[in-house]
Amino acid sequence: MGIEAGKKVLKRLKEEISLNEYNRYIKNMEFDEKSSRNDIIIYTTNNILSAKWINTRYAKKIAHLYEVETGIKPQVIIDIKKGRKEANVKISSRDKASQSTLLNPSFTFNSFVSGESNILAFNVAKAVAKNPGKQYNPLFIYGGVGLGKTHLMQAIGNYRVNLGDKIIYNTFEQFLNRYTNHIKTNSMDRFREYYRNCDILLIDDIQFISRKEQTQDEFFHTFNELHSLGKQIVITSDRAPKKIAGLVDRLKTRFEWGMLASINPPGLETKIAIIKKKSELNGIKLSNEVVNFLASKLGSNIREIEGTIIKINAMSSLLRQPITLDFVKNAIEDYLQEKQKNITIDSIVDIVANELNVKPSEIKSKKRAKKIVEARRIAIYLARNLTPNSMPQIAMYFGMKDHSAISHAMKKIEDIIENDENLKVLIEELSNKIETIKLQK
Ligand code: ADP
Ligand code: MG
Repeated sequence: MGIEAGKKVLKRLKEEISLNEYNRYIKNMEFDEKSSRNDIIIYTTNNILSAKWINTRYAKKIAHLYEVETGIKPQVIIDIKKGRKEANVKISSRDKASQSTLLNPSFTFNSFVSGESNILAFNVAKAVAKNPGKQYNPLFIYGGVGLGKTHLMQAIGNYRVNLGDKIIYNTFEQFLNRYTNHIKTNSMDRFREYYRNCDILLIDDIQFISRKEQTQDEFFHTFNELHSLGKQIVITSDRAPKKIAGLVDRLKTRFEWGMLASINPPGLETKIAIIKKKSELNGIKLSNEVVNFLASKLGSNIREIEGTIIKINAMSSLLRQPITLDFVKNAIEDYLQEKQKNITIDSIVDIVANELNVKPSEIKSKKRAKKIVEARRIAIYLARNLTPNSMPQIAMYFGMKDHSAISHAMKKIEDIIENDENLKVLIEELSNKIETIKLQK
């Protein structure tokens, strides 16, 4: 099927471009069945000039057509036909640095600051990179947003890529999308082949697996297959396996087979070291005074810390002012205020509605259907906890009489949470989502 798709793409391409162009460049192109793989498709042509031309003009289109055909986003390589090699050059749609999967090359062990909050995860990740598939398989890293899970996971990938291993890095969401696409196109054999053909599988943010039964099943098979072949699996999550709601037991136990390593929020000392490292990497000079101030003021999300440093630097060059303590104090003040403002009741309602399959307008309406009442209650609860709005303000937003309606809803949901582990987890997940979306703004 991959082979057919490779050929089919050429036919489709013919339909999409002018005959003139087709005759000139594409007609002589052949699909190289032998060297192509599922996710790397190779075409040959007569000479380097047309190879270059095809690559600039058509590689993207070819990749797209292939993806439509198969659900797989390929790397496209245009090679010169055998016996015609003018030079031994291959033209590829991606350059070498990004050739290997989707790893961020700056996520390495060297650029990772270790401290009391992450030392276990750091050491285990290094051990896994040196000796994959052995002692710690799977490695399951968990912890809050922006604490370095993805960084550590990709550091393993980057280390191994340089030794020639084939790495697959996917967020769980990407795994899920791929799975859905292959189901749709009735091509699960290729899906399985894709994952089976790697040395190391990195699955990021697996918490989104909750309650997706079919996908859990498939992931279970992928996992077993790789594990029994001695291939290393690394998984990250924002929480421990036992706290992932709706995770089937057999996956839970497997995740616990190897090594569970948590990353905690960094303490002051580690934050200071991180701020120093980040400013150094970004070529920004900060005095100790400023570093200490930032460490004490900023939260534990390291992505946010880095963003703040970069923003301060940008402001300083824009305003042509040196980064003094006073300057930073001012800059931070605005920044912190701005951050608070970012969570609005609107955004909470949107997220809750989306997650619970109701409409935002229904949450804001007076409808009494059970599902809607529950969603409304949850939105009220989150609005109260995540925004600075007062009860009367929230009451106004939801079109309720007065603040007592809000306090009633709050009380009700707190009672339910007390006895309902699932709801508790759901609310935790929603809060995380809301916080994450805010941070990405
Ligand atoms: P997570 O996946 O846990 O949400 P990331 O791994 O994406 O977090 O990290 C967020 C940002 O913070 C990245 O830019 C990463 O390089 C940086 N970072 C996190 N932890 C560290 C650390 N200990 N040392 C250096 N940089 C870090
Ligand atoms: Mg991450």
